[in-house]
Amino acid sequence: MIDLDLYRKYRLKNVINASGKMTILGVSKVPTDVVSQQKFGDENFFEMSDLVIKTGKYLANLLNAEDAVIVNSASAGIALAVAAVIGKGQLYHVYHPYDNRYIQREVIMPKGQNVDYGAPEELMISLGGGKLVEAGYANMCKSDHLEMQITDQTSAILYVKSHHAVQKSMLSISEAVKIAHEHNLPLILDAAAEEDLNKYLKLDVDIIIFSGAKALEGPASGLVYGKKKYINWIRMQSHGIGRAMKIGKENILGLAAAIERYLKVGPESGKSMQKRLSPFLKNLNQIPYINAREVQDAAGREIYRAAVTVSNDSPNSAIKIVEELKNGDPAIYTREYRVNEGIIEFDIRAVQQNEMEKIINALIKIQRREN
Ligand SMILES: *Cc1c(COP(=O)(O)O)cnc(C)c1O
Repeated sequence: MIDLDLYRKYRLKNVINASGKMTILGVSKVPTDVVSQQKFGDENFFEMSDLVIKTGKYLANLLNAEDAVIVNSASAGIALAVAAVIGKGQLYHVYHPYDNRYIQREVIMPKGQNVDYGAPEELMISLGGGKLVEAGYANMCKSDHLEMQITDQTSAILYVKSHHAVQKSMLSISEAVKIAHEHNLPLILDAAAEEDLNKYLKLDVDIIIFSGAKALEGPASGLVYGKKKYINWIRMQSHGIGRAMKIGKENILGLAAAIERYLKVGPESGKSMQKRLSPFLKNLNQIPYINAREVQDAAGREIYRAAVTVSNDSPNSAIKIVEELKNGDPAIYTREYRVNEGIIEFDIRAVQQNEMEKIINALIKIQRREN
């Protein structure tokens, strides 16, 4: 009998993910009904171009988009979209994407959106052969800032919709679309970690990019959808740089299933999260030197978390507690953004009841121990 406890086999640590959709922990758990369709992909052959085209059409139909294509990550989606808008469907370009006969390479992006999400946004632009031109300043970008950067070398405008990016004094997606279309340029939208698959089509965005494993809870993958012409050009890249970003048949079918499921079931509701949080908060508040309360996501999403304030006279600081939790077995990962202020956040989207009990027990153990 094969040992299927792979934690044991490879001597890996068990992990409780109370941090959210974190790439360093593997992002998401894929739901069982999605895994079964993924498995069908593993165990069968397909005409691959047929699989890519038809799953794309199926999803486009569900989303009311002109066309869609599944790629291996949102990062690949950015690089391939940039390559596509530079090459504009030319086969020579697919084989020679960095040839200097292609001079229309500039991709304009608001400066405050040139973030590092785990890798730099600008690197994906270069990978696709693009040359980044930043618009505006670290703290602001308006329509005028974007427009003044457009030249005859511009190939596209890239907009990053993300909690990582500067939100203040930032032009809206619609404003960016307006500028792009007035100059006959496509707007590429990196919406990797967003939740609403319909919203951006309605804003007339040309190329929309989602990460497969974040909100959509699919396997490692990415979805690119929007206008037919651009999706066609992106699909062509599989004979060029896209080959180095190849996605397997199992993950194509896995993401297609995950999206169909997501459109039916959607993310967990705020109400349900609050209901699951309530007993957890009560138990947290029994622990010495800790004060827990419910907080909503700072970016205003329908996500509720437990915010734990560690009191000043606690034997362990918030920083120390976060470290001890990670070093424990199972390793418990929390949201650490506010740990310097003495606040630890627990995101319960991927935490089950029995795991909440383990978190409580680990905290009690840490707080009882005198240092
Ligand atoms: C996570 C993320 C990405 C990358 O997604 P992958 O699918 O992991 O490549 C790109 N952009 C933003 C804003 C992200 O949050």
